[in-house]
Amino acid sequence: MTLNLETAAAWMSDYASVIDENAAMLTDLDRQTGDADHGSNMQRGMKAVAALDPSEFDDAAAYLKKAGMTLVSTVGGASGPLYGTFLLRFAGAVGDGGKDALTAAFRAGLDGVVQRGKAEVGDKTMVDALSPAVDAFDAAGSLDEALNAAAEAAAKGRDEATPLVARKGRASYLGERSKDHQDPGATSLTLLLESAARTLVG
Ligand code: ADP
Ligand code: MG
Ligand code: MG
Repeated sequence: MTLNLETAAAWMSDYASVIDENAAMLTDLDRQTGDADHGSNMQRGMKAVAALDPSEFDDAAAYLKKAGMTLVSTVGGASGPLYGTFLLRFAGAVGDGGKDALTAAFRAGLDGVVQRGKAEVGDKTMVDALSPAVDAFDAAGSLDEALNAAAEAAAKGRDEATPLVARKGRASYLGERSKDHQDPGATSLTLLLESAARTLVG
């Protein structure tokens, strides 16, 4: 399915439910290397996004832009501005919602996150999941293949970051002790792409 107002709202609604179900797990990951709030931060933000009425928006771009602004204003912490920027930039490039447009949208979202957070792949952040996901999306042939490949690449990137030393965000304060902990933001980012595959494939 292409991304349009209806499917974008289905994606955000699914992700809000997934965040609800995984909030305790995300907070627990953040307890190990941060300040134990990533689950509750994302839960607060996605609850506010899920409360948006899609019928009040002209198209997916307008709706996702509002969703991004909602995350910036409700999530707080490091992840609020980063997820918010991702969605704002994604929204700005969503075009006709087909494979090429979404390749550009995911790329724009990643660029926004990197500009804002200055993290590179290997710094053990959400970028470790997002960056390989965008590359996998780009390399795939069809939209369905791209969505599935992106979700798989995100999960792989999340797992490859686990043994690393964090170099950005609160986990970096732990230095070597951040090794062998799964990054909360890479985990929630993987859930976002798994949700996209679940709601947009078909
Ligand atoms: P905070 O650390 O402010 O409490 P959260 O707990 O909600 O914020 O989010 C933490 C997550 O944010 C980390 O697991 C990491 O993936 C991500 N993160 C932190 N700093 C950066 C950064 N500079 N660039 C990209 N992602 C980052
Ligand atoms: Mg935190
Ligand atoms: Mg915090």
